[in-house]
This record gives sequence, structure tokens and C-alpha cells, in this order.
Amino acid sequence: MHRPLVWDYPYRAHALQHHQIFKADETYRIQRKEDEHNVTFAWWNAPLLIGLNAPVMLLAQWLTGVNVIFAGLAAMGFYYFLYEYLHWCMHVPRSRWFEKTWAFRWINSHHLGHHRRMYTNFNVVLPLADFVLRTRRPLVAKKAVVPQLETARV
Ligand SMILES: [Zn+2]
Ligand SMILES: [Zn+2]
Repeated sequence: MHRPLVWDYPYRAHALQHHQIFKADETYRIQRKEDEHNVTFAWWNAPLLIGLNAPVMLLAQWLTGVNVIFAGLAAMGFYYFLYEYLHWCMHVPRSRWFEKTWAFRWINSHHLGHHRRMYTNFNVVLPLADFVLRTRRPLVAKKAVVPQLETARV
């Protein structure tokens, strides 16, 4: 998503559009209604990504004899939904009840760090890979800086 590859849609949609509109300042929260379509990926991105991973799950099922395809597809779909929805709520805050929770404020702060430094804090839902791959960077050492929980004005 941060470098053009064989197929450049994710790079264009994320690095060239999302990151250019939503920065680590007041523009982290949506400023213009017409930017809403730059918060999420195109609708077809989810079935495409899940479909591309389906052969891997079929191979795992064939190798192990364990029926993993249904649970695997459901897990990927649920994770993708969480990604898109939580990411939407980060950039389009609406005083939802969970926006005040410690967990949401923490992952929101984590994602704000990604908008400050594009090659850190890649995970949105569950920052496990950022810990394992050592790409996690706190906004300010030993003190979390949490974005204001204001309702977007659009
Ligand atoms: Zn973002
Ligand atoms: Zn990014």
C-alpha cells in the first residue's frame, strides 16, 4: 500500500490519496464531506483480497484434512470489516460510545502515529505485527498522545 507494485490500486488509494488528505494534524479528522470516499477502499477490495487468499486456505484444507475454508473466509471477512469500520471511525469521529474507550483511543493513537510516519504503525485493528516486526513507534515516548475525540464537522 505504500509502494507501487505490480498492481498499483492499493498504493494510489492509500499512499497517494488517503495519506495526502489525512495527515497527522487537524486533517486527521475529516474536514470535507467529499473526502469520505478516500477513507475506505473501493467496495470490491474486500472480495478481491479474500478471494486471492482462498486458494491458500483450500491448500491448507487439502494438506491437513481439516475443514478450514469456512472459518478462514469468515475470519478474513470479519477482520476486513473491523479494519474498514474502525479506520472509518478514526477519521470520521461521531462521539460513538466506544470512541471513548481506552482500547479505541489506543489504536486511534497508534494509527495517528502511522499518519505521522508512514512506515511505522501499519496495523489498524490489532497491532501485533507492529510489535513482532518492530515497526511500532509510540507518538511520544512514555506518554500516549491521543487525538481529540471531537465529532467531525461534515
Ligand atoms: Zn488512516
Ligand atoms: Zn499508510
